[in-house]
Amino acid sequence: MPGDNRLFKTRLGMQAGSDHTHQGPGPQQQRLPRQRSRRRELFCPAHREQKLVGNGRKYFLHLLTAEQLKQRGMPDGKARLVINAFPVLVLSNEWLEELFCADCGASRWCHVVRLDAVQHSVRWAPRELWLQVAHVDPLVANPSVGQYTAQQARRLSRKRSDGKSWFG
Ligand SMILES: [Zn+2]
Repeated sequence: MPGDNRLFKTRLGMQAGSDHTHQGPGPQQQRLPRQRSRRRELFCPAHREQKLVGNGRKYFLHLLTAEQLKQRGMPDGKARLVINAFPVLVLSNEWLEELFCADCGASRWCHVVRLDAVQHSVRWAPRELWLQVAHVDPLVANPSVGQYTAQQARRLSRKRSDGKSWFG
């Protein structure tokens, strides 16, 4: 299950920008020519040949429940241990990012999952994922996300049991 191992690299708190680091020894894609730079590749969900360009607007996802870890391939017992240790777990290999496609002629928010230094899966960000970016007000992040979602996010943010702020 891709992504399973990477969950263990996550830490409490923001780990922004980690996808640009660690270009060192690792599993290499055999089909890639050696001279080619190993820049990340993001392709439009609607235009499979069209590379997407980011503008720096990017939010890492928080996981709040063991169930969310299990959906990402972690065994049940381990998922509960991790959530107990990190009530707000920030994934380093999944985020929401605003990306521009020349064929679409527009920027859209996408849910990106890093598979390795180059390969990423990209889909249009489903609305409910904004609930897992708890430090961001969805209304500010994306005007197309409705008030209902923002209220849900705030309600969620008040649920934190240790009384600490999401902003750390
Ligand atoms: Zn497109």
